[in-house]
Amino acid sequence: MPDSVNPATAETRKAFTRHDDTAVRHAIDNGARAFGDWRGRPIGERAKLMHAAADLLDARRETLARLATEEMGKRIAEARSEVEKCAWVCRYYADNAEDFLADSPRESSASRAFVRYRPLGIVLAVMPWNFPYWQVFRFAAPTLMAGNVGLLKHASNVPQCAQAIEELFLDADFPQGVFASLLIGSDQVEAIIEDDRVKAVTLTGSEGAGRAVAATAGDRIKPSLLELGGSDPFIVMPSADIEAAVETAVKARMINNGQSCIAAKRFIVHADIHDRFAEAMAKRFGDLAIGDPMDEDTELGPLSSADALDTLTEQVDALARSGATIMLGGKPVQRQGYFFAPTIVTDVPGDAPGRYEELFGPVAMLHRVGDIDEAIAIANETPFGLGSSVWSRDEAEIDRFIDEVEAGSVFVNQMVASDPRLPFGGVKNSGYGRELSREGILAFVNAKTVSVA
Ligand code: NAP
Repeated sequence: MPDSVNPATAETRKAFTRHDDTAVRHAIDNGARAFGDWRGRPIGERAKLMHAAADLLDARRETLARLATEEMGKRIAEARSEVEKCAWVCRYYADNAEDFLADSPRESSASRAFVRYRPLGIVLAVMPWNFPYWQVFRFAAPTLMAGNVGLLKHASNVPQCAQAIEELFLDADFPQGVFASLLIGSDQVEAIIEDDRVKAVTLTGSEGAGRAVAATAGDRIKPSLLELGGSDPFIVMPSADIEAAVETAVKARMINNGQSCIAAKRFIVHADIHDRFAEAMAKRFGDLAIGDPMDEDTELGPLSSADALDTLTEQVDALARSGATIMLGGKPVQRQGYFFAPTIVTDVPGDAPGRYEELFGPVAMLHRVGDIDEAIAIANETPFGLGSSVWSRDEAEIDRFIDEVEAGSVFVNQMVASDPRLPFGGVKNSGYGRELSREGILAFVNAKTVSVA
């Protein structure tokens, strides 16, 4: 288990010891016991506790936000918004779960037929560090409201956030075992999935982690949900409001210091407006205030870890070696901590492997296209298919993007953002299954068909 390290200073803040296999077994025992009671509680009672969790998130907003900023480098204002959004998702499911899970009547030849949604049991969540609260709450709120219990294996670099979440559920009066955080390494995940009492697994993270977890779940015939990486296209056509597109492009690329799965990563711009767009973007990138994420005026903070900085540096170097043009930046920033300069890469050759990879940091790849066919072809050329943002005022063009871009979502004239009320997820190597909205609460239930003669 790595220590908790402040990425803005590279200083170790706290050391942690892993939970050993005995502690893991104990957590599963507790979860199984808790499920026996939790599944039978009236949904109104579960909703009351979920509202209490939301109230605690509000009350602890500043403490939780500072913890995330110190542990993974997110800008403090973004950390506060993340905590607020967690309270929103808790309230959303507390208020809507009963409707979502109501018996669903069906027509058949029986006298009465319906679907009843029953919980599965212990659901394991393997989560990433980049939205250390949001990723967990968007899983936990629907999953616990459905009557399941949750076991969290958080990313190794955010142990304090992981502990704070467990503590919050306990303080909100959730019974022991309904939600627990395990401080474990990824090598301990397989055995948990293999335990008969664990009924399903959800993972948000990289493709490699997704493949490993889904393979184990598949072998044990357990449902899995994967929210993996993305290299979202941001397509701008000549009819778009170019000023608004540039403003949003900068925000969409730099969110979370460039480390968001749904950040816009590839900017596919029509030739008629490409140079204007590129110059305006370079100007805005160049003006960003780089600094301590705890400072309210900072606009771009550090990457999450030394490894993340090495990986991004190597990817950008490889793009340059392959013949791409580094229009801006291209290097780590010379200061303490794990900072990478705002970067724009253009003219990336078709045979450059980096063209098809996810760039997890403040690096924008620009593509110049001649028409909508080329825009759609480039949008679809990566193995990913998470979100997409398209900018146009032409209804026929917009319709083609909606139909033809291979992605889990299309946002028109706005950036991609998750919202508790809208389903969220990807296609292709970005994963499968949907979180949030009604789909999210139905991810881990037994949709039991009932037919009465
Ligand atoms: P990661 O290395 O895959 O880690 C994610 C989680 O998986 C961590 O808890 C990690 O544990 C665990 N893990 C890693 N390898 C594993 C294995 N072989 N078996 C079981 N568990 C394993 O990803 P990351 O670098 O933290 O996160 C960034 C990635 O997540 C990016 O690709 C990003 O796009 C994606 N992401 C996707 C979404 C979405 O909603 N689609 C949202 C956010 C992020 P350790 O920390 O102990 O290694």
